[in-house]
Amino acid sequence: SLFRIATAEVRNIIKRSYNTTNVAPTVKMFIDGKFVDSTATEWIDLHDPATNEIVTRVPKCTQDEMNAAVESSKRAFKTWSQTSILTRQQVMFKLQQIIRANMSEIAKNITKEQGKTLVDAEGDVLRGLQVVEHMCSITSLQLGETLPNIAKDMDTYSYTLPLGVTAGITPFNFPAMIPLWMFPVSITCGNTSIIKPSERDPGATLLLCEMLNEAGCPPGVVNVIHGAHDAVNFICDHPDIRAISFVGSDQAGKYIYERGCRNGKRVQSNMGAKNHGIIMSDANKNATLNQLAGAAFGAAGQRCMALSTAVFVGEAREWIPDLVERAAALKVGPGDKPGVDVGPVISPQSKKRILDLVQSGVEEGAKIVLDGRDIKIEGYDKGNFVGPTILVDVKPSMKCYKEEIFGPVLVVLTADTLDDAIEMINKNPYGNGTAIFTTNGATARKFVNEVDAGQIGVNVPIPVPLPMFSFTGSRGSFWGSEHFYGKQGIKFYTQTKTVTQLWRETDVTHTQAAVAMPT
Ligand code: NAD
Repeated sequence: SLFRIATAEVRNIIKRSYNTTNVAPTVKMFIDGKFVDSTATEWIDLHDPATNEIVTRVPKCTQDEMNAAVESSKRAFKTWSQTSILTRQQVMFKLQQIIRANMSEIAKNITKEQGKTLVDAEGDVLRGLQVVEHMCSITSLQLGETLPNIAKDMDTYSYTLPLGVTAGITPFNFPAMIPLWMFPVSITCGNTSIIKPSERDPGATLLLCEMLNEAGCPPGVVNVIHGAHDAVNFICDHPDIRAISFVGSDQAGKYIYERGCRNGKRVQSNMGAKNHGIIMSDANKNATLNQLAGAAFGAAGQRCMALSTAVFVGEAREWIPDLVERAAALKVGPGDKPGVDVGPVISPQSKKRILDLVQSGVEEGAKIVLDGRDIKIEGYDKGNFVGPTILVDVKPSMKCYKEEIFGPVLVVLTADTLDDAIEMINKNPYGNGTAIFTTNGATARKFVNEVDAGQIGVNVPIPVPLPMFSFTGSRGSFWGSEHFYGKQGIKFYTQTKTVTQLWRETDVTHTQAAVAMPT
């Protein structure tokens, strides 16, 4: 069956997509439906974050290789865009089955390259799979509009049509979910898609490409190139790429937005975050503290929707020691060991940045009440481990508050009133997400109404919307107009063609041409 073939196949993909003849294996490109070796002269080493051993090497693709990807995408667009919508829908149905049957295989690759725990890696796949599932309803999502009798014998209707070649540039932290936010939406609308996965963990994207082949997706509909700045610049500048989806850091996101827009492209750019959790003293204490610890330290804090900033309002501040206890109980270790809650962070550089930010907090007057900086994991001396760390007495002027830490570090502030807490959030430049914990409906409603963030949780710590909605980060966390997935994702990847037609049974009798605008 489809499932069994896929599972057997997937076990070999890593071997096939990594060239195992070299001492250190290398990652292949995916061009025109085939896994192809790069002739690059520059390579990026990819390390297992738990051991820092080299897993594979990622090419910085040559200009010729990247041009070949665009040519393949352009060729495929000619036929794919004219393929029946039911055919494109069928590819999604099959892809859905294949991904679901192979979630744990993809998860293993994610844990190896990215470090997160296996169970969390399955969640990474699942949240991307849900986008594929939503795209199975493309036959409703891509409907246009009609209005008959716009004038006598005249009707207007609009089509929602693909743009052409699109591109996606992804971050390291969700190696399956974020590519799946991009190419399924793009291609089901009839576009073709070039993905440049994060050079730190491209394996999941390649596995998904093999599954696309298996699902009957024609060659060239999705191509994968690798690299860093040069590949990004290539995408921003190539005249045949119409739209760019980016997810990652502020620095890269703003650069790509500006460069892509300057070249006349559509760009959607999801960037960094500093998500605040507001804890009211009437909240359900246990549920709130469990959720806070999970949302601050899960995935080692490397989620753009991690709840990295806690604001205890009024008497709720007395719960801080209980939160510390809960965080201290989390088990740190390699992601493939059962029972581990917090895996390593992505790189030694990232670990250093995290520790430096913690230290800056200490120097500016914050207190460490849980210190995971010197954690040692037996048998994994070289891994990039940071244990859950909590800083209290943090003030909005401190660097550790202003900058995204992107590690297992929770900064804790206090506020006297809900108004003060809301003011703090609204002054912060980021607007990705926020959450309030309370049992009072009026308090929750006031918060939802007054807070200026794009995704709000009420007793929900990480309120990432399912794909029938869109991922609606705002302010400093998002540049662009149409968000990822959902109706906005369809809008991002399509353009409208509006037709006005006049069909009259008989010819008119006069011979006078009308030259003025009709009044
Ligand atoms: P990153 O910006 O370093 O890398 C993302 C992509 O951009 C990669 O493909 C990389 O090759 C490229 N890139 C990196 N630096 C670049 C530069 N200077 N110029 C051009 N391209 C560059 O991001 P990351 O470290 O992989 O991911 C973590 C960041 O992503 C965090 O800030 C996190 O908040 C953010 N993120 C945001 C969302 C969201 O939806 N808002 C989701 C996930 C991650």
